[in-house]
Amino acid sequence: MILIRRILLGLFSIVGVHAQSPDLGGVKVSLDRYQGPAKVSAVSLDKFKLRVQVERMGESQPLSVRVELPKSGRNVWPANDVEVRDETGTAMLVRRSGIEWENLTVPINEKVSAFIVQAMEPSVPLPRITSDKERVIQDATSGAQVRIANWPQGRTAALSIRFDDSHPTHLSKAIPILHEYGFKGTFMVNPGPKEPGSRQNYSFETQHTEWEAVMKQGDMELANHSAHHRGAKGDEDMEREIGSAAEAIWKLTPGKSKLTALNLGGGTLWETTRTLRYYLDKYHQFDASSGSLGMDDSYGGRVEAFRKALQTHLERGLWCRAHYHYIGEGLSSSEANFRAALDIAKEHQDKLWIAGMADIHKYQTERSCAKLTLVRSDTKSLTFQLDCVTDATLYDQPLTLEVTLPEGHDAQRAVIQTEAGKSFVPQFANGFLRFELIPKSGVYTIAFMP
Ligand SMILES: [Zn+2]
Repeated sequence: MILIRRILLGLFSIVGVHAQSPDLGGVKVSLDRYQGPAKVSAVSLDKFKLRVQVERMGESQPLSVRVELPKSGRNVWPANDVEVRDETGTAMLVRRSGIEWENLTVPINEKVSAFIVQAMEPSVPLPRITSDKERVIQDATSGAQVRIANWPQGRTAALSIRFDDSHPTHLSKAIPILHEYGFKGTFMVNPGPKEPGSRQNYSFETQHTEWEAVMKQGDMELANHSAHHRGAKGDEDMEREIGSAAEAIWKLTPGKSKLTALNLGGGTLWETTRTLRYYLDKYHQFDASSGSLGMDDSYGGRVEAFRKALQTHLERGLWCRAHYHYIGEGLSSSEANFRAALDIAKEHQDKLWIAGMADIHKYQTERSCAKLTLVRSDTKSLTFQLDCVTDATLYDQPLTLEVTLPEGHDAQRAVIQTEAGKSFVPQFANGFLRFELIPKSGVYTIAFMP
């Protein structure tokens, strides 16, 4: 049996290899789980646009074409913006795995012999990323330097700790333990409700009062793991799975930014004619599917893997993401291993911004497209303009600014003034000033004081 499977797998991969072409820029096109006379080929029409042609050669069975887009490297596709249309221009239903949006399966009927795979321009244009230079003012007149800090509170790197599937142990174990450490967790929930005919229980729904209490306390974050963790069949189902989960979360965070992390979940299949971007934009979600270290004990050596990942991210000043499922003896992660990882985070706490996934995404996005411009300066003051292009109703994480004053100035007596004439005293640490600004465009003056 195993041998037969190996031979079959070998055959499938040969079919795949046949359809690969160097001019497709790393895209692989093949017939999905198929052996027979039919053939598939593809040509590149433009950057992020290709035409796929199927020759049935008498095949009458239903066929599916698998299109694998490069996930990283020079030729990486913007997978969240990709859609498929037939030759009449009608959007086709495409199947994808919840956390691999770059792999497309396109079921085709006998009428379809060719289709176009293409990345669309997002309808809400992505903001321009500013350069590092645009986020610093090095002023010769005053001798001061103003910069937008890499991370808030003078931290070197960020850490998010995520918990998937709204399991009861998140309330009974994870949250009380996080409180002991003073850390914020991100809870990727499936808010349900229970569906007719399904035996699946939705503990977020049954423990709604408890989750409500957690969110009232305000020190944890909720994220969207879809309503039922079962994938979706068609646009309307997909809309419900993402939209109703988003709304359930917003209900528990009234008056707060609606921006939420979205991860459609492993082991799920999603069928839609639309791009993922459509759903992300419509429901103020951001894609949080990739780049996270799985912390289930079954992977082995998790505590060490976490120590290493954290170290690397600290060295590079990046966002380290880890995720758990159920916490407790005999469950996905034992309490001892969970605590051991938190102990490691605690060791580095002075250098780590341990925050929710939306908090970190907001800071990163706001900062990456913000700009500082010198307005005027003299030996006693510097006036600068902060430009932010992110929507402040969604992106509301304060930006941290740091100022190094010229020698001889008493930094402890410095004052920051807003354009409206309000003033406040910045923090003074490690030889420079630090203060937070709301991520909106504005003009500020730093008065050094004699
Ligand atoms: Zn999950």
